[in-house]
Amino acid sequence: MTRAEILEARRQLTSLRLKYQKEVMQAYDKEYYAELRKLQEECGKIGHSKGYYYDNGIGTAWYRCPTCDARHSIETYGESAA
Ligand SMILES: [Zn+2]
Repeated sequence: MTRAEILEARRQLTSLRLKYQKEVMQAYDKEYYAELRKLQEECGKIGHSKGYYYDNGIGTAWYRCPTCDARHSIETYGESAA
């Protein structure tokens, strides 16, 4: 195999793995994220911790609470803020 063939084969293998993961986790994740959203709402009631600052570089910036992992204080800037 060439390097390009190995790379393409690895990409396909990884893609199949991710697809399988999503399929088997789908039902579990539905409950998981519902419970996580409840915790994040509770955390928001007492006030999220500031946490790290993120900026996607294309018009949105936010903080991520280290307690509940929620994005908060989300701001848009530039053309997307208009
Ligand atoms: Zn929080």
